Amino acid sequence: MRAEIVTIGTELLLGQVVDTNSAYLARKLGQLGYDTYFRQTVGDNHRRAVLAVSLAMERADVVIVSGGLGPTEDDVTRDVVAAAVGVPLEESEEALAQVTAYFERVGRPMRPSQRRQALVPRGARVIPDPVGTAPGFVWEGADRAVVALPGVPGELKAMMESWVGPYLAERARSRGQAGVIVSRLLHFVGIGEADLEQALLDLLHGRANPTLATYAGTGQVSVRITARAADKATARGMIEPVEQEVRARVGAYCYGFDDETLEAVVVRGLARRGWKLAVAESCTGGLVGDRLTNVPGASEVLLEDVVAYSNEAKQRRLGVEAALIREHGAVSEACARAMAEGVRRSAGADVGLAITGIAGPGGGSPEKPVGLVYMAVATPAGTVAERHRFGGDRLHIKARAATAGLALLRR
Ligand code: ATP
Ligand code: MG
Repeated sequence: MRAEIVTIGTELLLGQVVDTNSAYLARKLGQLGYDTYFRQTVGDNHRRAVLAVSLAMERADVVIVSGGLGPTEDDVTRDVVAAAVGVPLEESEEALAQVTAYFERVGRPMRPSQRRQALVPRGARVIPDPVGTAPGFVWEGADRAVVALPGVPGELKAMMESWVGPYLAERARSRGQAGVIVSRLLHFVGIGEADLEQALLDLLHGRANPTLATYAGTGQVSVRITARAADKATARGMIEPVEQEVRARVGAYCYGFDDETLEAVVVRGLARRGWKLAVAESCTGGLVGDRLTNVPGASEVLLEDVVAYSNEAKQRRLGVEAALIREHGAVSEACARAMAEGVRRSAGADVGLAITGIAGPGGGSPEKPVGLVYMAVATPAGTVAERHRFGGDRLHIKARAATAGLALLRR
């Protein structure tokens, strides 16, 4: 079964609102076993939106339209779907009851224009909206269906979870096309995308099911293994041997799976050992602490994060010697080591992590170019340091340095 997503909204075309609904719907459709080959975004314009929906109906079994179901003039979706499928709009009793109930619930009077929200293309089924005002609808033809959902992400998700998901699964099943697409993500640090690709070349190419693909993130790379099968257990069974093969080759760089983040893995690893962590950040300005504190339970592990940005702060807060900075500079392996040991000592932690580098765009020199970052981890077993040279702009260098610092804590 093929699905196509059409998001309607001039704000999406202008880039003022990021189209998160498409990404969410695409993921959902995949899980339901639907193939999505195309996706369209169109403004709040009747003629162009009819073109978009009509085109989608030519090449997909199910068209999902998001947005434009509200009560205002620029909410064109009802008229657009009616025009695309060639039926008039009619007031639906069920939809009117929902809209009325909503206004009673929130204790506001319903404006005449809001009654428009009870209109649906003739013959369409109304989708209950558990959250907001706008009921969605499904119009079903002989071999096509058009699903219209509100643009507000929370409403769209609620309707997808409660009604549209089960409806789409049943539709595929009743046509003997039930199936699932299951993906497994493996996340890597310390290996570049090109090296990862090289190591997995024969697995990446020329496979139909499961398929493999690599994705580069900021300072990390992911491999996605996707299988299509009749049910989840079968799909997982197909993914398993491929995953084992990937792990046999590059498992040393793999830090986690699916929704796992590097910071969550780090917090879990330290908690398992019962180790306390203190961090000293210069060029990353607190990014490591920010990411660690995004993890529930970080308080069990993280004692403090010192942002020691100036040389003076590195001396006063971390006990780095003035002579060391004079001799080696603040961006040096010696300084990173002294910072890590200093913060570990002053916080009474088991582990100290420090990062110091040049985020740019200014401040670089031939010996110490922009993107040069030193990091060190001090543990009861001693201190290890790493030198990195990151590309990209200031924010990118900071983000990659934070990832590399967290990666150092994984070991
Ligand atoms: P309502 O009934 O609440 O008016 P609607 O169907 O009319 O819903 P829109 O007016 O198109 O929806 O969009 C409402 C808001 O939802 C937009 O201002 C935007 O912030 C958000 N939104 C719309 N489409 C998307 C999308 N594709 N991705 C993410 N957010 C979106
Ligand atoms: Mg809109």
